[in-house]
Amino acid sequence: MTERDVMDFDVVVVGGGPAGLATAIHFANLVERHNAAVRKSGHGEEVAPQICLIEKAAELGAHSLSGAVMDPKGLDALLPGWRTMEPKAPVEAEVHDDYAMWLTKAGGFKFPITPPPLKNHGNFVVSLNKLVKWLGGIAEQKGIQVFPGFPGAKLVREGDRVTGVQLGDAGIDKHGQPKGNFQAGGILAGKVVVIAEGSRGSLTKQLVADLHLEGKNPQVYGIGVKEVWEVPKGQCAPGLVVHTMGYPLDSHTFGGGWIYGMGETEGGKNMVSVGLVVGLDYRDPTMDAHRQLQLMKLNPKVAPFLRGGKMLHYGAKSLPEGGLYAMPRCYGDGFLLVGDAAGVMNSMRLKGIHLAMRSGMLAAETAFACLQKGDTSAAATVAYEQKMKADWMHEELWKCRNFHQGFHKGRLAGLVNAGFATMFGGKGTFWSDELKSDAGHTYMRKVGEYFGGKGKPQCDKLAEDGTLTFDKLTSVYSSGTLHEEDQPCHLVVTQPDLCSTRCVEEFGNPCQHFCPAAVYEMEEKAGTKHGVELKINASNCVHCKTCDIMDPYQVINWVTPEGGGGPNYTNL
Ligand code: SF4
Repeated sequence: MTERDVMDFDVVVVGGGPAGLATAIHFANLVERHNAAVRKSGHGEEVAPQICLIEKAAELGAHSLSGAVMDPKGLDALLPGWRTMEPKAPVEAEVHDDYAMWLTKAGGFKFPITPPPLKNHGNFVVSLNKLVKWLGGIAEQKGIQVFPGFPGAKLVREGDRVTGVQLGDAGIDKHGQPKGNFQAGGILAGKVVVIAEGSRGSLTKQLVADLHLEGKNPQVYGIGVKEVWEVPKGQCAPGLVVHTMGYPLDSHTFGGGWIYGMGETEGGKNMVSVGLVVGLDYRDPTMDAHRQLQLMKLNPKVAPFLRGGKMLHYGAKSLPEGGLYAMPRCYGDGFLLVGDAAGVMNSMRLKGIHLAMRSGMLAAETAFACLQKGDTSAAATVAYEQKMKADWMHEELWKCRNFHQGFHKGRLAGLVNAGFATMFGGKGTFWSDELKSDAGHTYMRKVGEYFGGKGKPQCDKLAEDGTLTFDKLTSVYSSGTLHEEDQPCHLVVTQPDLCSTRCVEEFGNPCQHFCPAAVYEMEEKAGTKHGVELKINASNCVHCKTCDIMDPYQVINWVTPEGGGGPNYTNL
């Protein structure tokens, strides 16, 4: 048995995104406030709880990607003086103009009014990885021990109680044998473990399944694919926010696109963010979000924003779209779930950063109070759920609770449902107060069923021009993705035989299409039933988790690779 060092903490935060960092910063603020009150009143005792935060990326922000137009409500609550702080918060531009467009293949038109959920005046265009780096600096100033490059490989449990996190081992070769530089991952023991590992995290997935924490609906996800461009000055005003609907997605596929003017960043370059979200509950087994983004950029209403420019960065991530009724139970013995891991996202507004931060703050308050009482059992951590229910974040999530589910009856029905919800402040939804849904992969149709009916194949080759449109490998290069090559594959296919047999026949190996980073390939292989075998190019993986979510047989398990591996996002 491998010997592992154990380090003791009061609070261990897993994940250095906005939710995890908000947890850490707010916890440190609560400690400061408590001690200041003790000093002033002369009553009680000062405390010095130990808190640490781990992040799988080599540096904070390198794996953080978002749309991202940020509602400042979360940051206002966390750091009320952020607008005048030094170093300055890295917001790119305040939104000054926004509109929505309906796209068709040949063009499109501007909506006469901007749908209220897509109004963004007063919000900020941000680069999430820059914002996260900035928050990380604040956390460190407050004495939080931040450990980048350390993935949480598994939760340590005693029965239902989470007692810590085991870090990933380093220095294991691709056959699972220790190399000369082998280092066993230590255990960070914590009285409270705050899981902030993002969308479809491997620890959260296991915990939800083991402890039956599922919400009323299974979580449904979307995948966001995004590029950042440098374009000629004047082509897209800083703070301009454009949302798109329609083309290239069909009427049974949830999603939409965006173009955001980021303004001058990176040494005076004029930057634009362009991206597309595709619901991971689509029917078409050949759906490819990367390809859909390339098609969207060819649209005559979108292409002019990018003409004469250069694509600088690419990234992809999944996002929890299921809403309030898909949130798991977010507390238990010794643990709390925050941010995307908790499913706090407003898919109607395409916003989650403010909610992620707010959930982190409420988790910090709960953890602090539990430690003060000396009780971190579920009977005490339930206070987190109560705090969320009493907070503005619950009101916001309640208003859009059925938004995504409404689209399961098609785009028109979804838009009508969303319109009703908006008109009546969430009080009246079109069909039901609590729309049901299934897990996203169950909506995918088999090839024969989809293409035998009205569906039309999408997988005809798109002739990427290398100027406006790119193939996946070029895009992966722009994501800065790197992994140690000689390590066990972090994409664990639990029944590989299925790939070259049933999956070929039934779904046509959709992993080749849904992975936005060309990780999965069907290679020719003599002697197999269909002459093909799955090849996994794991080093391309941008950690979006789409394969874990959308595999129709649910036999792909994304686990954390060696620390520091993955994309290296900048400006995304
Ligand atoms: Fe995303 Fe999976 Fe592809 Fe990695 S392998 S980029 S997690 S779909």
